[in-house]
Amino acid sequence: LVMSKIALVTGANKGIGRAAAEQLAALGMTVLLGARDPHRGEEAAAGIRAAGGDAHAVVLDVTDHAVVRAAAEQIEARFGHLDVLINNAGITGSGQVSPLDATDQIPSGVELDMVCAVFETNVFGVIAVTNAMLPLLRRSPAPRIVNVSSHAASLTLNSDPEGPFTALLPSAAYSPSKSALSALTVQYANEFREDGILVNAAAPGFVDTDSNNHTGHLTPAQGAAVLVRLATLGADGPTAGFFSADGPVPW
Ligand code: NDP
Repeated sequence: LVMSKIALVTGANKGIGRAAAEQLAALGMTVLLGARDPHRGEEAAAGIRAAGGDAHAVVLDVTDHAVVRAAAEQIEARFGHLDVLINNAGITGSGQVSPLDATDQIPSGVELDMVCAVFETNVFGVIAVTNAMLPLLRRSPAPRIVNVSSHAASLTLNSDPEGPFTALLPSAAYSPSKSALSALTVQYANEFREDGILVNAAAPGFVDTDSNNHTGHLTPAQGAAVLVRLATLGADGPTAGFFSADGPVPW
């Protein structure tokens, strides 16, 4: 009897995370769908089970450290270990307005409240979840961590005046948060290099989801493909890398 691998995807109730969960389940993994709303998490898990997959919802708000710890305890009690962690939950910050805006006290530019909120989810949330799940990942023979980043993380692409992002992304929150996630990916990868834990960052491309009001041109399934590839790397696979479906992305 071969035990199926256990994968946790954060922010899996919709969008790219949900598509990644569907694909991992189709590969035969037991998929744990992290969702901050239990009902929407359960709905997504039920959809995967209806398609023949093994899926379970886990309540997981990545910014609530007590909830993150509780999720790790629940996974340990029920499954004992974790083979794959996909840190997918993320926000753009574009839908959030600083309360200070209303009083006109700050000019446009770096809105600290928004930057803090985006970093809480996109960066500190990843640290909280990764640290909490680490003891479970260490029990896997081949642990894989995938951090869902973005082309917008790339300092190389962002600093190129001819590049695609200079006009597109006025937000001082999102791109730096994903650049920080890149930096974090490298640090984790180096720390775990001797332990065989492969840690990579993924750029899904411009995907049709709620996060961009469905302006993306790729389907969630297309965007999720690189996450799944990095989640299923063989022992000789890369670590401390940054990849899109087309190959390496410049840092
Ligand atoms: P969606 O908005 O469709 O999904 C985001 C998911 O993250 C939702 O499940 C959301 O939950 C969850 N989430 C947000 N905050 C938290 C939190 N504090 N705790 C737990 N879950 C949370 O976006 P996408 O699918 O597009 O984005 C997924 C990832 O892909 C993000 O990291 C994003 O930055 C990245 N990405 C997306 C691109 C695109 O073109 N779409 C391009 C490059 C990167 P809820 O439903 O409760 O809000």
